[in-house]
Amino acid sequence: MGWNPIRKDVAVFPVSPHMQDYEATCAGFSWEDVRRELAGLPGGAGLNIAHEAVDRHAAGALRDRLAMRWLGKNGAVRDFTYGDLARESSRFASVLKGLGIAQGDRVFALAGRIPELYLAALGTLKNGSVFCPLFSAFGPEPIRQRLERGDGRVLVTTVRLYEKKIAQLLNTLPQLNRVLLTDAAEDLSDSVLSLPRLMATAASDFTIPPTDPEDMALLHFTSGTTGMPKGAVHVHDAVLTHFTTGRYVLDFHPDDIFWCTADPGWVTGTSYGIIAPLVHGITSIIDEADFDAERWYRILEKQRVTVWYTAPTAVRMLMRAAIEPRRQFDLSALRLIHSVGEPLNPEAVVWGAQTLGLPIHDNWWQTETGGIMIANYAALEIRPGSMGRPLPGIEAAVVRRGGEGGVELAGTDEDGELALRSGWPSMFRGYLHDEERYRKCFAGGWYLTGDLARRDRDGWFWFVGRADDIIKTAGHMVGPFEVESVLMEYPAVAEAGVIGVPEPIIGEIVKAFIVLKDGFEGTEALRLELIGFGRSKLGSAVAPKEIVFLDTLPKTRSGKIMRRLLKARELGLPEGDTSTLESA
Ligand code: ATP
Ligand code: MG
Repeated sequence: MGWNPIRKDVAVFPVSPHMQDYEATCAGFSWEDVRRELAGLPGGAGLNIAHEAVDRHAAGALRDRLAMRWLGKNGAVRDFTYGDLARESSRFASVLKGLGIAQGDRVFALAGRIPELYLAALGTLKNGSVFCPLFSAFGPEPIRQRLERGDGRVLVTTVRLYEKKIAQLLNTLPQLNRVLLTDAAEDLSDSVLSLPRLMATAASDFTIPPTDPEDMALLHFTSGTTGMPKGAVHVHDAVLTHFTTGRYVLDFHPDDIFWCTADPGWVTGTSYGIIAPLVHGITSIIDEADFDAERWYRILEKQRVTVWYTAPTAVRMLMRAAIEPRRQFDLSALRLIHSVGEPLNPEAVVWGAQTLGLPIHDNWWQTETGGIMIANYAALEIRPGSMGRPLPGIEAAVVRRGGEGGVELAGTDEDGELALRSGWPSMFRGYLHDEERYRKCFAGGWYLTGDLARRDRDGWFWFVGRADDIIKTAGHMVGPFEVESVLMEYPAVAEAGVIGVPEPIIGEIVKAFIVLKDGFEGTEALRLELIGFGRSKLGSAVAPKEIVFLDTLPKTRSGKIMRRLLKARELGLPEGDTSTLESA
């Protein structure tokens, strides 16, 4: 599509990137070497994520290093050193143990980004229990479903959320043993308890029980973009991937200040909003507030953030805002920007380079993969619109499902399903209570991701679309991303969602839903102009034939465009599971 590659001059990097020669790093990489770099539990008692993330640092030179700085939405600031985190998460583990919560038991959290959530996550892992974060904006029914399907025994939440959403569910959830309220001074009943009261008397030292690397650690529900969310099971061994991606993708160095904007209700907010930066012993920023362009730039400036991990939806919102970031804010500390969750339009990568002074590094992964799998690295050429190249230790391929349960490799530049050689440390070990669906994800030694992609001759991977979203029109297979990215090149367009609408002669016609930037109006003239623009860039077979202007696109709470809803609404069909819909 005519975007020039962005090349990096390592000599001008403020710190030297960990990976400078991709091929050499991949060739010399082994997961066993990574395992040796981690501490492991004392006395050979196994591997526990919380020990790698907190306790080993608290017992050593990083004890007084700032681990987390929490920025409250009303201006409060709370700092936690590694020593503080170790002590407070131990208290939480002691609370669980005192309540008889065992290894393998599921501990859910339903809260905004408050400090207690982070302490609960780490304390749960220390106790060998399984942490399952829920997004605080879920309504009662999605919460009930997930607690039931995940066999939740404990729920950590706030008084407000309890009263609004949980109290009404209690008698439908017999296995839910205790609710712990983060901000109640007194217990409400024998099973709804004050967490501060319990924490005040709980022991602040805690010995992590022996933990097998294959013990279940985290349960994450997928985003529900394509249907009913699935519960992906992850084990403690996943920390090897968190560590490796922290080094090679996020390029953490000891003095880094890292900000991951994702909510822990989604896998990014746990793998990278909690675990990876702590495993590297660096400082994380946590902002309690929701997106606000000015606030975000101010945080980057004031906290001197060096590495920033965000999402395409946020980048697109920043692109829309009438702010000149480098004129209004000092972003000089910032060294690397990463994005995940949806395809990152080439326009956005280049906007970063021009407006923030740094290109945005797209990376690809899923709830099921537990960590970043394909990425644009600090020192490697960026081909705008490409997801980048596989992580060292990860074998990725584009395949077609072929007879006898196997797969065959697609050729260079051919579309096919993105597959990963199964068996990396953070690979999900199951969909909870859905063994059959899990089995169906694997064939011929590969995990099949359900995403379509293409690999160019030099080994860069390009996202084509989710298998469910592909449009078949007049003998062509069209990925919505390609069409959306072109529409976004048009100056008035802020966002685009593209679907196929059934049509008897050509199969499907390409239809685009467009959100305009502030100050533009969706007139008939603009609509025709955009149709013409699409044709000139994409050719008439692929260009949208119909264009509709909307005020907003339906999105998941994690910011992904829900094309299946655009389609269901267009066709007057049932909307299916909308538990993760932003405005639900
Ligand atoms: P569900 O599986 O419930 O439909 P989901 O797939 O959106 O929801 P997640 O695991 O949160 O749930 O998202 C992973 C998916 O997001 C990927 O399979 C891919 O479709 C998309 N994705 C993530 N990162 C990228 C990226 N960099 N480029 C393109 N797509 C991406
Ligand atoms: Mg998925």
